[in-house]
Amino acid sequence: MSKRLLVLLTLIIMVASSSSDLSAQNRRQPPKRVDLLVLGGTIVTMDGTRRIIENGGMAVSDGRIVAIGSRGDIQSGYSARQTVSATGKLIIPGLINGHTHIPMVLFRGLADDLDLQEWLTKYIFPAEAKNVSEDFVRAGTRLGLAEMIRGGTTTYCDMYYFEDAIADETAKAGVRGVLGETLIDFPVADNKTNAEAMAYVEKFVNRWKGNDLIVPAIAPHAPYTVSEEHLKAVRAFSDRTGAPIVTHISETKPEVEESIKTKGASPVAYLERIGFLNEKVIAAHMVWPQGDDIAVLKRRGVGVVHNPQSNMKLASGVAPVPKMMSDGLFVGLGTDGAASNNDLNMWEEMDTVAKLHKVFTGDPKIISAQQAFELATIRGAQALHLAQEIGSLEKGKRADIVIIERDALNQIPLYNIYSDLVYATKASDVETVIINGRLVMRDRRLLTLNETAIRNGARIFRDRILKSLGRSDSQE
Ligand SMILES: [Zn+2]
Repeated sequence: MSKRLLVLLTLIIMVASSSSDLSAQNRRQPPKRVDLLVLGGTIVTMDGTRRIIENGGMAVSDGRIVAIGSRGDIQSGYSARQTVSATGKLIIPGLINGHTHIPMVLFRGLADDLDLQEWLTKYIFPAEAKNVSEDFVRAGTRLGLAEMIRGGTTTYCDMYYFEDAIADETAKAGVRGVLGETLIDFPVADNKTNAEAMAYVEKFVNRWKGNDLIVPAIAPHAPYTVSEEHLKAVRAFSDRTGAPIVTHISETKPEVEESIKTKGASPVAYLERIGFLNEKVIAAHMVWPQGDDIAVLKRRGVGVVHNPQSNMKLASGVAPVPKMMSDGLFVGLGTDGAASNNDLNMWEEMDTVAKLHKVFTGDPKIISAQQAFELATIRGAQALHLAQEIGSLEKGKRADIVIIERDALNQIPLYNIYSDLVYATKASDVETVIINGRLVMRDRRLLTLNETAIRNGARIFRDRILKSLGRSDSQE
């Protein structure tokens, strides 16, 4: 044997033995340590292929999903100090409430069965002027957060006053939020002038930027309550800080007619003209798009949030959501504030969105159960410009995970998962909620909020609010 051949043979033997060593090591390798395992159950991933994993598993570390697959693979590859068993349950991405005003839960049922302008100007604006304080906002936020966690909502997009206090309560409760401080061209509870409001927003955005849970945002109320000059300043602020812009656009027909009369353009065309629209904007409602408004919104990458129950209750109209979806717009789903809904329940919104558009178009195929579920998950994430982080259960995404029981009478026998989720599942069927890898509700017990204290804290405001409006009781 030549010396060269000998060297070659030795090399081959070394490589072969080291590779067999490696695979033996792999077999023997201890499972990787992670923070949390979710094992068993059926995972509805909402990923690009809408994969459904029977008897699945997920490993979570540092707030993110690090592995998702079969229960066996996850169990053998990972170990954790905390394991949640989901055997026999459904596991879904946390629901996304794309538009609300969370402290308004304290106005729930104060004034109903009115149209938007009367409801706003006769009841809501006066009630807000007399009652909204930081204490009010904190108490309402805690109540709203508890309601949302119980209903499997893990992310919400908000717009209100004292938004810094809302962010504080939200972060403490471990909930994710895109939270916008409201700007409006009249004095409000937290800021009396636009200059004050802009200074507040500057501080607010600086404080929360980069937080794992809170995305601080700026929220001009609407193009009819905020001047062109102030809207342009909002856009400049967003360009400079990267903060998203949350607003209401084209909610009612009179709003659109007034815009055409006074500005010579629909609200969307007007906002386009002044250079306001871009991929940072999250626009609630869009009930009455005109002309090529939908094409403009698409071109600018604006996220639109549909609020079917609020639009129905205020008789604002029916947004052309099926067209928006087929035209490729980012569309999500929201409850709007509880004063016009009157709850923060995304299960009802999913059920309603599917049925409203069926009856409105006369076509039962117009929005399927699966599409309705998409609106509250992955499409909702797109509308909030957060689809890289949330909206589906995938490796690398934030671990916002909801476990649903399948034993409730209203869920039996279960033929189709999306149908069951959208048309039959209730908020009360939500059992366990994980946000950013942290358990915030386990087996229906809230872990980050004190429900008794929340109830008592919120009830105090009822009498105060009635008294402030010159009403002594709620029986009128
Ligand atoms: Zn709203």
